[in-house]
Amino acid sequence: MQDQTREKKNMNPRHKVDAHVHIMTPRRVRGGIKWVRPVAPDYENLSLDVSTEQLLAHLEEEGVEAFYNFFYPLKPGESEEINEWQRSFADGCPQAIPFASLHAGDENKSALISQALERLGLVGFKFHPYIQGFALMDNRLFPVFQELEERQCPVVFHTGFSEFYRQPSMVEDTINFLKRYPRLKTIVAHMLYLDLPIADWPRLLEEYPNLYLDITNLLPYCSSDMADKEQLQFLIGTHSSRILFGSDFPMGTLYPIGQLHDLAIDICSDQISLDNIMWRTACNIVGKTL
Ligand SMILES: [Zn+2]
Repeated sequence: MQDQTREKKNMNPRHKVDAHVHIMTPRRVRGGIKWVRPVAPDYENLSLDVSTEQLLAHLEEEGVEAFYNFFYPLKPGESEEINEWQRSFADGCPQAIPFASLHAGDENKSALISQALERLGLVGFKFHPYIQGFALMDNRLFPVFQELEERQCPVVFHTGFSEFYRQPSMVEDTINFLKRYPRLKTIVAHMLYLDLPIADWPRLLEEYPNLYLDITNLLPYCSSDMADKEQLQFLIGTHSSRILFGSDFPMGTLYPIGQLHDLAIDICSDQISLDNIMWRTACNIVGKTL
């Protein structure tokens, strides 16, 4: 035990790739920080008027070398502009790995996909069914996921914390989604946390080889719940090549986000798992080399 503690004190990830960041327009960042403050008091210390440059400076100070950037439309008709914003943002910020999005109510969804992936060179798609106001299994999205599966394009979607969102649990939709698109590279953000026991994931990871789990926002909760912490520790120990770490900055849990890096170090019992969750899995999914 003592040896393990001593060894862990010296553990540090060789790189840091944050697989869950939301750098968006100042208006949307402001809305996001305001929205998260009641449950994440640390964010009282980040100004609502924070600039994009200041957000990037924070990531850099915390040693983040690259990050998945998510920005999704809240209503139909906004997607093209948002995806173009992502492209120009990433053009000026080589650390950003830009993800596209679209809305279930958009009319020209197939054209939006080819624009995003071919013309704009975005690397994947992110959806937030709760905030965007549609169900994951909305039949307007079936052709979208089918096309993304054919194109082998990674798809991230929010799950979990249903009580906080005052929305129905996404457990059933997520399982049906995996059954329906087994070849799609699917990243389940927040692992259906509080809606599905962590102990259910090893079996699902075995059953769906293209499934990945994003542990964003779990670490602060798991550090105060011993049973969850043990289950997450076990899961990381056995499946770290399928697990990604993210901060949800600037609308996450802890700020400064270095506190989350410390929790990640604390929960990993070996250097390989730590490197996998902190950068290797995220790089593998999008084919990035550091
Ligand atoms: Zn998020």
